[in-house]
Amino acid sequence: MHYTGEVYRHPLEAKTPLLEVTTGCSWCKCTFCAMYLHSPFAISDLNVIEEDLQEIKSIYGENLSRISLVNGDVLSLPSERIIKILELINRYFPNIKVISAQVSIRNLKHHTTESLKQMKSLHFNLFYIGIETGYDSALQIMNKGVTNADQYEQLHKLNEAEIDFAALLMIGIAGKGKSEDNVKATAKLLNETKPTMVSVITTAVVKGSKLEQLRDNGEFVEQTEREHISEEIALIKSLHLDGSIFFGSHALNMVHISGRLGPDTEKILYRLNAALKEIPDNILDSILQRSNV
Ligand code: SF4
Repeated sequence: MHYTGEVYRHPLEAKTPLLEVTTGCSWCKCTFCAMYLHSPFAISDLNVIEEDLQEIKSIYGENLSRISLVNGDVLSLPSERIIKILELINRYFPNIKVISAQVSIRNLKHHTTESLKQMKSLHFNLFYIGIETGYDSALQIMNKGVTNADQYEQLHKLNEAEIDFAALLMIGIAGKGKSEDNVKATAKLLNETKPTMVSVITTAVVKGSKLEQLRDNGEFVEQTEREHISEEIALIKSLHLDGSIFFGSHALNMVHISGRLGPDTEKILYRLNAALKEIPDNILDSILQRSNV
């Protein structure tokens, strides 16, 4: 297989074959992110992609039903090229049901609803989207390259194309004292655009990131662990997404808890509230150092 530099995928795709279609990140400017700092952006040749598909077929057979496209992100490619890649995948794996990828709102803008519908017809039907927050001021500080109005517009486009998406959020991304505003704006965005999954990760100030500089010169103040867990509780209470999956089991979270919003909401909230009682105060009132995601 051809993998270049760091390769990232959502924890729920841990057992899914990964097909590299781009290298690095086409943006690579988010304040908090150091994921692809050492992997320049590049586009994989179609013949290289085809070699990898042959290898995946030799390992998993032609009945493979799920595959994930890496790296950040496939939507940086023109629609026509993505459709060519999807057609290749469908040719190698006629029983493919789910093609997923981590994508950005910024690149989603380049694709029309019609193109997205065509991609969906070729089973490209699960987008993990790094939304992080619906709070404009945090989006700006984190240099996401989009506004919250862009997020509404692009997520509605996905709704129209009937493509499922997982909203990837960062707890604590707005910084100390901004949690309430962050939860309010983020919950409003999600309640209106209806993700099939809400996935939360605790904000890590990663070595080498611009966020590290902002923190060190006092422009970004991190929340404590207690504030992170409290923000997660407030967010869950504000969501009206019965049936959507809540994934809170990322390795960087202090409490690992997941389930379906609606039937499992009480259980999830109970576990998070219990953590606030059980974890010693000196830990809850501290800021744990977290390494890169
Ligand atoms: S968060 Fe995603 S879009 Fe932003 S720099 Fe990192 S990989 Fe690129």
